[in-house]
Amino acid sequence: MALTGIQIQKLLPKTNCKECGSNTCLAFAMKLAAKKTELSACPYASEEAKRILGAASEPPVRNITLGADSSLQTGGETVLYRHEKTFVHQTLFAVNINDTDPQGTIDSTLKKINDYVLERAGEALRIDMVCISQNGNDHEAFAALAKKAMHTAKKPLILRSPDISALRLAAEAVKGTHSVLVSSALDRLDELKKIAEDNEHNLALSSSDLDALAAASATLKESGFKNIVLDLQNSTPAEQFQLNSIARRMALRTNFKPLGYPTVHFIGSDDLMENVISATIEINKYGGICVFPVFDPALFASLMTVRLNIYTDPQKPIQVEPKIYAIGEPTPESRVFVTTNFSLTYFIVSSEIENSGISAWLVVPECEGMSVLTAWAAGKFSGAGIAKFCKETGLENQVKSREIIIPGYVAQISGELEENLPGWKVIVGPQEAADIESFVKAQER
Ligand code: SF4
Repeated sequence: MALTGIQIQKLLPKTNCKECGSNTCLAFAMKLAAKKTELSACPYASEEAKRILGAASEPPVRNITLGADSSLQTGGETVLYRHEKTFVHQTLFAVNINDTDPQGTIDSTLKKINDYVLERAGEALRIDMVCISQNGNDHEAFAALAKKAMHTAKKPLILRSPDISALRLAAEAVKGTHSVLVSSALDRLDELKKIAEDNEHNLALSSSDLDALAAASATLKESGFKNIVLDLQNSTPAEQFQLNSIARRMALRTNFKPLGYPTVHFIGSDDLMENVISATIEINKYGGICVFPVFDPALFASLMTVRLNIYTDPQKPIQVEPKIYAIGEPTPESRVFVTTNFSLTYFIVSSEIENSGISAWLVVPECEGMSVLTAWAAGKFSGAGIAKFCKETGLENQVKSREIIIPGYVAQISGELEENLPGWKVIVGPQEAADIESFVKAQER
């Protein structure tokens, strides 16, 4: 059961020394109760406090690290709905390769996984993991393929085999990569645990029986092994949605630890629409790792965009760096536009300038990641503020033009901007970025 702030405070030193960053032990205890800090922030916590609070302050969904450098993570979630706080780790995307695939297909898939990068809102989005599945009987070949994928893709792996001996060989071949070993042999947990521990991997337990999965994860945890992933097998999207929701609700609402682990889901259909539905359920409803049957760049382009929308922190707008951006290859005579540093606004405006066939300077002052009207209403996008930014960044030395184009929605700041930027003419541009092209053409007439 979760402890209250008052209960937690009783276990702390109560010296109010402030070294944890909170003014009092009680304030720190309240943060711990809300899972907004960790006990390790208090250097004076007793062993008893660590024993009791260590478990109580763990996130209800265990955080699992992946990769030789542990740079990738899944789990660590604390809320059921994004708007309650934020989701912590986005659904990881993996592509499956079978050991029975033709050599040419294997090589080209590994290369495509490596090369794939999608630019969205200033972020470079990539495939996160590679799954190697054993369909054949050659254990050595399966292990060799795992090793090849490790060296070629340089990403954490998911190793899937119905045979524990094959899983052991592959796990040894990629020892220390903190990959995920997948097995449905819930009756051989001791062997699986030893393979995972000896080779520094995580262990994914597969079953369509939620009770059996919970029992197996509880047994593993009792034995001291916690790096567990759950493969909630299902046969329809409705079942997938239901199982994922039940598991996550039980972990978060009732603190039911046996289901408090990230999940892995294998998309098994050849039908594109079914794959889209299945992956979308994973992204929206708590999927830890989603494994795609083939490499499909069109599918990834749309799903990575969906994922980006769900996993951005609603309390922190995505921002670009405040500075003067060169759009295309502008010269000192090129036009000067101004907009805010909300990522979406910046990318829409810069794309529309590019689409209009001109090069230009785009002045992007600090607006705390707000869109144009929001920033203006909050006093973050004023004529005086823009002028100050232009002076501080040396815009006047960089360009010869003395005209600055402001968004049409904030036409009311034009006078203030001209007052604070002597020698400049302020031009009110279109309200919508989509109209920049026609605005530019009208100016050239
Ligand atoms: Fe209390 Fe520990 Fe924080 Fe000091 S560091 S105020 S003892 S919780």
